[in-house]
Amino acid sequence: MKTLTTLSIALVTTLPLSISAHAEAWGYGDNNGPSTWGAVSATCDKGQNQSPVDIETNTLTSAKKQPLAFDYQGQVKNVINNGHTIQVNVSGKNTLHIDDQDFELKQFHFHTPSENTINGKSAPLEAHFVHANEKGQLAVVAVMYREGERESAQLDSIVHTLPAKAQTITLEKEVNLDDLLPRVKDYYRYNGSLTTPPCSEGVRWLVLRDPQFIPKSQLKRLSSTMGENARPTQALNARLILE
Ligand SMILES: [Zn+2]
Repeated sequence: MKTLTTLSIALVTTLPLSISAHAEAWGYGDNNGPSTWGAVSATCDKGQNQSPVDIETNTLTSAKKQPLAFDYQGQVKNVINNGHTIQVNVSGKNTLHIDDQDFELKQFHFHTPSENTINGKSAPLEAHFVHANEKGQLAVVAVMYREGERESAQLDSIVHTLPAKAQTITLEKEVNLDDLLPRVKDYYRYNGSLTTPPCSEGVRWLVLRDPQFIPKSQLKRLSSTMGENARPTQALNARLILE
């Protein structure tokens, strides 16, 4: 028993040291990848409405959906590398109106390759625009990117110089958020979760149908900075995907 006691004391005393490494508790590597996230949050394992999902276009449910009403008036504030993704923080008023409610844009970030897939295929890049309403409920607008030269000058300013791990870059140029969205805003809708721990559910997922384009060089820059940071698709279970 003595050994056990000593061991538990040792564990307790080393805890504070490991707090600084807390950001590494989950990730996308062999030891901390998506299959291990249940240890960080049980919802990642046990949740029945998890994201991302595969959107099989021949099994969708037709629905009369409200158009997405974006009112993005703000700017990019800064770009941070939090070790899991490249996250863009915003300023000003940036609202998405849906379900008779206003959702404010909190940030957007990137995944390489895409997390949601369409007919089993991933896109090389997916951006998540994360919005919250007054109650803190989330609505995520996902934008898929294909490789191509029809680039967005706004995206170029963001991706041009990327921050290293734990660094923040403040952009010198003004970047309008509105220009980052595709012009046509048809979307697929499903009920899902955060795609990272704690994998909390009750997230409205709005996946835009039309992709944006990103030049190969920029795509390379993003993927080499972030590494692969896509959670595999999750079982749909009882959910429907609306089109
Ligand atoms: Zn995301």
